[in-house]
This record gives sequence, C-alpha cells and structure tokens, in this order.
Amino acid sequence: MSETPYPYDAPASQALFDRACAVTPGGVNSPVRAFRAVGGTPRFMVSGRGPYLTDADGREYVDLVCSWGPMILGHAHPEVIAAVQEAVARGTSFGTPGEGEAALAEEIVARVEPVEQVRLVSSGTEATMSAIRLARGFTRRSKVIKFAGCYHGHVDSLLASAGSGVATFALPDTPGVTGAQAGDTIVLPYNDLEAVQEAFHRHPGEIACVITEASPGNMGVVPPEPGFNRGLRDACHKNGALYISDEVMTGFRTSRAGWYGIDGVKPDLMTFGKVMGGGFPAAAFGGRADVMAHLAPAGPVYQAGTLSGNPVATAAGLAQLRLLDEAAYDTVNAVSAQIQALVTEALNKEGVAHRVQTASNMFSVFFTDRQVRDYEDAKRQESFRFTAFFHSLLSNGVYLPPSSFESWFVSTAHDERAVQKIADALPAAARAAAEATA
Ligand code: PLP
Repeated sequence: MSETPYPYDAPASQALFDRACAVTPGGVNSPVRAFRAVGGTPRFMVSGRGPYLTDADGREYVDLVCSWGPMILGHAHPEVIAAVQEAVARGTSFGTPGEGEAALAEEIVARVEPVEQVRLVSSGTEATMSAIRLARGFTRRSKVIKFAGCYHGHVDSLLASAGSGVATFALPDTPGVTGAQAGDTIVLPYNDLEAVQEAFHRHPGEIACVITEASPGNMGVVPPEPGFNRGLRDACHKNGALYISDEVMTGFRTSRAGWYGIDGVKPDLMTFGKVMGGGFPAAAFGGRADVMAHLAPAGPVYQAGTLSGNPVATAAGLAQLRLLDEAAYDTVNAVSAQIQALVTEALNKEGVAHRVQTASNMFSVFFTDRQVRDYEDAKRQESFRFTAFFHSLLSNGVYLPPSSFESWFVSTAHDERAVQKIADALPAAARAAAEATA
C-alpha cells in the first residue's frame, strides 16, 4: 500500500492499485499516473462522459486532465463513439493502406500549412523519434538541440537534461540511456536565443536540428517569448539545420492549426499526437515535402509500424478533428478563461502567491510570485502548496493533473454545471494551499 498523509478514502481504487502493483512496476503504465508527486491513492477510472470521470468507488470528478490533452470534446462524444463503432464493425487492423489514413492526412495537411506530407504513427514518442531520425538522415549531421524542461516523449536521445552552463553536452536523465545516445544532444535553457546561437557557433556543420515544444506544457505552461520561435527558425536556416516544432500537445488544441495557427512561424518538420487520435493511439509527423521524400519507401530513411494508421484510431481522430471548428475553439478558450479567473480569485482571496500561465486554452498554476520563463524558474515554485491544493480539489470532486509541472486541459463539454463544481471546490483548496507547509 502507498504511504500517504492523505485520508485513505478510495478503497476500491486502492484495492485495484495494490493488485496492479503486484504485476506492473509501480502499478501503472505511465509514471505520472501513480500520484508519486502528490502522494495518495491514484484513482482508477471506470468511465468518462463529457467533462466527468467516474472512479472505481463510484465518485464523479470534473476532469481537468482530459487524458493529458486528447479529449478536447470531452469523454465519449457521441459522434466520435459512432465513428469508432462503425470502424470497429468493419475490422480492427488490416496491415494494408486504407482510405481513413489518406483522409486523416488530408485533414492535417489542410489545417496546418507547413505540412505538405505526413506520416502516421502510434504515439507522440514515435513521432519525435522518427522526425529526429529523418532530420539526421536529411542533413547527414548528428547533433540535436533540445531545451531543458521540454518533453518529447521517452526517446533515448531526448531523455537528457542540461549540465551546468550553456551548451553543455547532455548527461542521460535515466539509467538505460547511454552516454553515446545522449552525447549528441545539446540541452539549452528555454527562451534563451543567445545560447542557441552560441551552440551553432561552437558546432559548425554538426547540428541536424533544433526540436522544441511549440509552446511548452511539460514544465507547466511556459510559452515562448515573442520572437523566440522565429529566432530558432532563423538560426536553423542560417546554419543548415532543420527546425522541428513538437505540437504533440498543442496541435489541434491551441487552435485549428495548433500553435502554428497562433505564431505563424513555419517549421521544417512538425510532430502531432493527442487530439488528432481522438483518444486512440494515433500520432504523426510531417512537414516539407522535400524532407519527407527522404522517408522509406520514397527515400532511404527507414520508418515503419504494424499498427500505423490503424483504421479505428484514424476514424476516431478524423471524427474528432472534423468536429473541431472555430466555434469549438471559442468554447474551449472561453471555459479555460473562466476557470483561470476562478482559480486566481480563490487564491488571491487567501493571499496565496501564484501565477497562472497560459498558451491559448492550455494553462497551469505556478505557486510562485515570479514569472516562469524556463525550467529553472518552474522548479522554484512552492510545489508543496500545489500538493495541498490538489488533494483538496480531489476530495471535492475535481481531478487536476497530479503534478505541478503539467498543463491543465479543458474541453467543449465543460459546461456551467462542471464550472460551478470547480467554483464550489476552489475556496477550500485555496485555503489548503495557504495553510500548507514545506
Ligand atoms: N511531445 C510532447 C510535447 C508531449 O507532450 C508528449 C507527451 O506528453 C510527447 C511528445 C510524447 O507523446 P506520447 O506520450 O504519445 O508518446
């Protein structure tokens, strides 16, 4: 059983967690789900509908995680479910090309202007891994620049964080990633263009690409400062490198065309996942046709997948994207702004220092009085206040991401009743944050 200072109030979830721990490392299939950052019993969800999740103990929560971004229409949207049922009835996987794949690729190309060609894969990790390989194959260079605090999935070479100083070669973040795998990765502080220019200066002709989250959400929401993405793109092009914008989180969420639809900076390659899969394992990478032409079977850079372009996943993704018109984004943006305002009001009332940082409808709450512009700033927040805030909300039926380094996500289904439930739970949570001690 997990040790926790929080009340043991989810017996069915706890029983399932104990069972899972016996057969699965840490009891979960993706680490953040284990609640290690906040303690307590991870809730085992049994169903979702609209903005709500129901756990194994029969308790309902307003969901502010939305499966970490994908469920932008809420859970079990009837039209997405119908598309899935129709696809499943025709068979679940053929290992051949199918019309759904072309239709989903056409939808992505139509929405995101820099994407001329696209390849479908099954996870965001696969998308970034493949895009990096393609960039290396295209440029015939080895080194990759990434930014501290940006997460691009568990790709070996990208699981690396900075050592001290600027343009330090990365040390692996985790056992199992060798020095050689991380050694071609240069990790730089986010929002620091000078560091990027210096890295290009130090490694002439060696850097294949810069990969960045289009607007980071994996250190909490830390948007690019004005001109940062453009500066990255310009530095890449001046030095013969490719600019890869990772839109796995922001793609089709922050606007119709993702973050590109907001800042208009044209990448050479882009990666997508989450929203485009409609809750199924579908992801993609794409971009300039001349670069994508290097991908097998058109070109020499190998990339493949048994379940790539799976017919059920593509049907779900396509149904979801087709429902995401401007009105849908207006709804998500409005509900996000409403919840942000409620959080600020509650925390201000209790005198809790905090900053709500936003990127379109993505937002997170940092317990600090200073602006957060990079990973080092994010780590300076008072995370113990988040823990108290989180548990108070959880016990009052609001499900936040179980870590202070994550974006909160809302959906078109977050209606007045859901927002009212959040509003009702916030005063006690703000008080808990105010009273929390390190
Ligand atoms: N890139 C970004 C920006 C992400 O946020 C994530 C996952 O959260 C990934 C890549 C990896 O995607 P997946 O978890 O589907 O492998």
